[in-house]
Amino acid sequence: MTVSSGAAIVVAGDNAKAVTKLTDIRQGIARYSLRDTLQCLRENGSALPWPCRGDAWGRPKVQAALLAASNALAVQGPNAITLQVNDISNINGGRFPTHTSHMRGTHLDLDISGYDNLDAAVARRVVQVAQALATAATNEGITLTRILVSYQTGGAFAEELAGLQINGQPATLIIRQDISTVHDDHFHAEFNAPLP
Ligand SMILES: [Zn+2]
Repeated sequence: MTVSSGAAIVVAGDNAKAVTKLTDIRQGIARYSLRDTLQCLRENGSALPWPCRGDAWGRPKVQAALLAASNALAVQGPNAITLQVNDISNINGGRFPTHTSHMRGTHLDLDISGYDNLDAAVARRVVQVAQALATAATNEGITLTRILVSYQTGGAFAEELAGLQINGQPATLIIRQDISTVHDDHFHAEFNAPLP
């Protein structure tokens, strides 16, 4: 199969099915953490004998929104933010250990400098990122649906977040608390992005 961007392709034969065509989002945006190998991985991290071609495949409109938001955040003067991305999806989507989601090219793992502090300043900066992603998504005809953050109930992040807005709505409608600790060292963004 080819790996260029475009509409969904169809695999012929007995197992015929539509396959969502994803694009490689690694271009043009900073990465954090290590890249996965080009092989699919088992839960224990060992390589399976078929290729996933890395960890940064997403739907084309998600890629466009991510790049636009990243570029917008980089030029916001003293409030500029370098947005970093890590796992998105494998080349054809599907199960992606150790994630429970990231299967459709619409979920992104993101990080910004100082995120782990999860304090009031980080709340303002995550809202700034969310606003940029929401605006860029709208411009692409898709929707930012939620961002997951493992913040403490009653903590500085929660207190600050309660007073912030995204597009005139409470920021808590988009930035949701993950009661696990999975998202205490990076955050996770989800888009509703129909096929191209
Ligand atoms: Zn994630």
